[in-house]
Amino acid sequence: MGIAVLGSTGSIGRNTLDVVARHPERFRVVALSAHRSWQKLVEQASLHRPQLLVLLDEGAAEQARAALAARQLSIPVHGGSDALAAAAAHADVDIVMAAIVGAAGLASTLAAVRAGKRVLLANKEALVMTGPLLMREVRERGAQLIPIDSEHNAMFQCMPASFRPGSEPAGLTRLILTASGGPFRLMPAAELESVTPAQAVAHPKWSMGPKISVDSATLMNKGLEIIEASWLFGVPESRVEVLVHPQSVVHSLVEYADGSILAQMGAPDMRTPIAQALAWPERIGSGVQSLRLEAIRRLDFEPPDLERFPSLTLARAAARAGGTAPALLNAANEVAVQAFLDRRLNFTGIAAVIDRVLQQLVSRPAQTLGDVLDADVQARHLARAIIEPARGAFS
Ligand code: NAD
Ligand code: MG
Repeated sequence: MGIAVLGSTGSIGRNTLDVVARHPERFRVVALSAHRSWQKLVEQASLHRPQLLVLLDEGAAEQARAALAARQLSIPVHGGSDALAAAAAHADVDIVMAAIVGAAGLASTLAAVRAGKRVLLANKEALVMTGPLLMREVRERGAQLIPIDSEHNAMFQCMPASFRPGSEPAGLTRLILTASGGPFRLMPAAELESVTPAQAVAHPKWSMGPKISVDSATLMNKGLEIIEASWLFGVPESRVEVLVHPQSVVHSLVEYADGSILAQMGAPDMRTPIAQALAWPERIGSGVQSLRLEAIRRLDFEPPDLERFPSLTLARAAARAGGTAPALLNAANEVAVQAFLDRRLNFTGIAAVIDRVLQQLVSRPAQTLGDVLDADVQARHLARAIIEPARGAFS
């Protein structure tokens, strides 16, 4: 099977290449892509020998070409977003790992779906923004959509054989999303205001890119995941519950009408969902250590604290509003998280900015991709103006 890894230099991208390299008889790397980290991409290219590389940044693409020539590797390097979408739809590609972070991954994720590929979806923001549109394309193009997010991959593994993405399985009563609680699970509310980006990205259980690490600290990651689960499994947000489970061993649960609750467990290592999705419906090795329950001894579950972590309530409100509201939520969150990472906004300001954006911008029907992209631009503009009032007023 030919594979394109979009966002190959990131946390999910590197884990994907780790699993792929364990099965050379099964997988062939066709395309790799990154934003501007050309050195890492060239390193990956010399190891995995893809047919082509894509760097979003044209300057970085130029540097990669020179570096490959110096190594006497003749691998074409394309620059720009059209090249990214073309790599996702490439004829030699069977599986696309959509592992770009944020709205930046939307166009290529959509291109992979439209080309009818098996799409391994890590880029949850694309689905949050365009839920009904993306799920319709999946059905119409006969694409396979397999979630990589550990919780959704866990739920996918607990679905009946007849399950089709986007349609609620018969007899399903509840989805239960587990959350580690992030690095500030036990921190008093008064201290949250002054936490630093370094503290926020130091996740207790998972090693991930900076954006999703901050999302895990605010619990907006779980908010996005409620919306993601509701589109993937065809259930309203009110039937997607969240339970804090600090050990991160039970990756999520699905309840059925007869009272059965199915769960998927494993060590907190993204190579498990990645290998599951790559090989589905078969099973392959992932390099993940076997989970020893006797060493863990106990599993704890508790409800999330909605007062200290208002992101969950904001995400539920956006899910209920529907239309462009989830895209507004996502865009405001991306801008606020970046401002927090750049130390222009404090931690509790992230949810406050999103709240204001959702109050000031009305949700509109999201009938076309254009509707969603307009909402995205509007929300980014407003979020920036809220964060930097002086600059916002003159821009
Ligand atoms: P990351 O920051 O480590 O990597 C992001 C990748 O995307 C990099 O290769 C980067 O070069 C590329 N990229 C960034 N901006 C881009 C742009 N504008 N255009 C093109 N490429 C761009 O992120 P990550 O932690 O690997 O997360 C990737 C996605 O997977 C996110 O949507 C995240 O929510 C999801 N996810 C990640 C994890 C995890 O364990 N890391 C778990 C669940 C879901
Ligand atoms: Mg997750």
